[in-house]
Amino acid sequence: MPTQKTDMPCEPPVIVLFRNDLRLADNLALKAAAETGRPVLPVFVFDDGADGGRPPGGARRWWLHHALERLRASLAERGASLILRRGPTLATVLSLVEATQANAVFWNRRYDPAGIAADSDLKTALRERALEARSFDGHLLHEPSRLTTGTGGPYRVYSPFWRALASGGEPRAPVAAPKAIRPLPEAVASDGLESWSLLPTAPDWAGGLRDAWTPGEAGARQRLADFLDAGLQHYAEGRDRPADALTSQLSPHLAHGEITPFQIWHALARPDLDAPARDLETFRKEIAWREFSYHLLFHNRDLASKNVNRDFDAFAWRPDAGLLAAWQQGRTGYPIVDAGMRQLWRTGWMHNRVRMVAASFLTKHLLQDWRDGEAWFWDTLVDADPASNPASWQWVAGSGADAAPYFRIFNPVLQGEKFDPDGTYVRDFVPELARLPSRYIHKPWQAPADTLSEAGVKLGATYPVAIVEHRKARTAALAAYDAMKGTR
Ligand code: FAD
Repeated sequence: MPTQKTDMPCEPPVIVLFRNDLRLADNLALKAAAETGRPVLPVFVFDDGADGGRPPGGARRWWLHHALERLRASLAERGASLILRRGPTLATVLSLVEATQANAVFWNRRYDPAGIAADSDLKTALRERALEARSFDGHLLHEPSRLTTGTGGPYRVYSPFWRALASGGEPRAPVAAPKAIRPLPEAVASDGLESWSLLPTAPDWAGGLRDAWTPGEAGARQRLADFLDAGLQHYAEGRDRPADALTSQLSPHLAHGEITPFQIWHALARPDLDAPARDLETFRKEIAWREFSYHLLFHNRDLASKNVNRDFDAFAWRPDAGLLAAWQQGRTGYPIVDAGMRQLWRTGWMHNRVRMVAASFLTKHLLQDWRDGEAWFWDTLVDADPASNPASWQWVAGSGADAAPYFRIFNPVLQGEKFDPDGTYVRDFVPELARLPSRYIHKPWQAPADTLSEAGVKLGATYPVAIVEHRKARTAALAAYDAMKGTR
C-alpha cells in the first residue's frame, strides 16, 4: 500500500511491532513504549514469508484473523489504533517511520532463524539512521543462545537441557498490560484486515475451528484458568488419554503469543492451586520441550527441511501420493490414526499422544518422508510452530536430536487399546465405528461378521480395510533402517 504522509505529531511517536505476540499483558515492548509517555503506534507487520520464513498455513491464517480482531479491540479500549501492514519487516517499518516521523521502534524478539535475521537487519538500519531500536524478551523462558552445555556448545539431548533450564533460576515475573496508551494525534493508514483474505471462503472449512477455539488474549486466559481448575491435578496420568482432554490446549495461544510461558510458569505457583508435585513437574517439563525445540531450531536453522542426523539422508522413503492422501484424510483403516487425523481436520489440533502415533504410522508403517507429514501439520494445525513441529517430527521419525530409537515402532492397535481403552476418542471422530464393541474398536478387522453387521460396519465400504498390515509394515521399516545403516 502507498505510504501516506501524516501531519507530524508534536512529539515523535514510538512504533511497537506486533508479530507473534498478540497480547497486551506481559508484553515488554508495549510496556516500555507506554512508559515513555510519548504517543505509541502499535503496528502488526504481516511478513507472510517475505522475511524468508515460512508463511503461515491455512489453520494459522484463520486464527490470525480472529486474534488480530481481538487485539485491535483491546488496543482500542486503551485509546490506540492497531495499524496493519503487510510486507517485509524492514521496508514496512522504514516506510512507517518516514510517514510518522517516529524516532524509536520497539519489539519483542522472534526466535525463528528468518525472524532473527530480519530483526537484526532492522536494528542495524534503524541505528544507522540514529533512531532508537530496542528489542525485548519474547516468547521463551530462556534465550536459546544463552543456554549452553559445560563446553559451551548446544544441547542435543533433552534431559540435561531440562536440568539446565530448571536450575537456571526462576523465570522473570510477568508484567501487567499498560493501563493507557497515548495515541497519535493523526490517523495513520492501515490495511483492512478483510483485504488480507485470511479466512477460508470456498469452501469455508473452519466451522470446527470456530466451535473449538476462542482466539485472543482473553481466550488464552480462560484456557489457562480452566486447565488450572480441572486438568492440572490429573495431568501426569491423564495427559496421555486423548478422550479425557486433560491437557491445557494452550499451544495455539502460545504459538500466537496470546499468553507467555512466563505467565503460565508463574500461574503454576499460585498458592491456592494445590496440585500434586508430580503433575506440576510433568507440566513444567512439557513447557520445557517447547524451549528445547527452539534451542534445536536456533542451532539447526534448516530443522524443517534437513535431517539433524545426516545418516537419514540415505533413508529410502517410498513416496506414494495415495498412501499420503489416505493418512491425511483419516482413511488408513487404523482407527486411532484416523481419529487423530480427523480431529486435526475438524478442530485444527490433535492430542499429543495421537500426534506421536499418527506421525510414527506415516513415517514407519507407510515409509513416507517425515517432511510430507510435517508440511501437512504445518498447514492444518492452529498451533503449527516453526520449532516444535519439525523438532517433533524428526523426534518421531528417528532423524532428530535425541530422537526416539527408530526400532521403537508404535503398534497403533496397542496404542489405541492402552490410551483409549473404551474407544471414546475413536467413536467421537470416526462415527462410522461408534457402535462397535470396545474390544474391536481398535481392530475392526478382527470382529466377527455378525458383530460388524450389528454395528453397521462394512469394511471396505463404510470404513476402510487397513492399508498395511502391522507386522509386515514393521518388518519393512526395520529393513529400510538396516539398509540405511549399511550405507554409512
Ligand atoms: P500440554 O500438554 O498442555 O502442554 C503445555 C504446553 O507445552 C503446550 O501447549 C506446548 O507449548 C508445550 N509442549 C507440550 N508438549 C510438547 C512437545 N512434545 N514439544 C514441544 N512443546 C510441547 N506443538 C506445537 O506447539 N506446535 C506444533 O506444531 C507441534 N507439532 C507436533 C508434531 C508432532 C508430530 C508431535 C508428536 C508433536 C507436536 N507438538 C507441537 C507438540 C505437542 O503435541 C503439542 O505441543 C501439544 O499437543 C499441545 O497441546 P497442549 O497445549 O494441550 O499441551
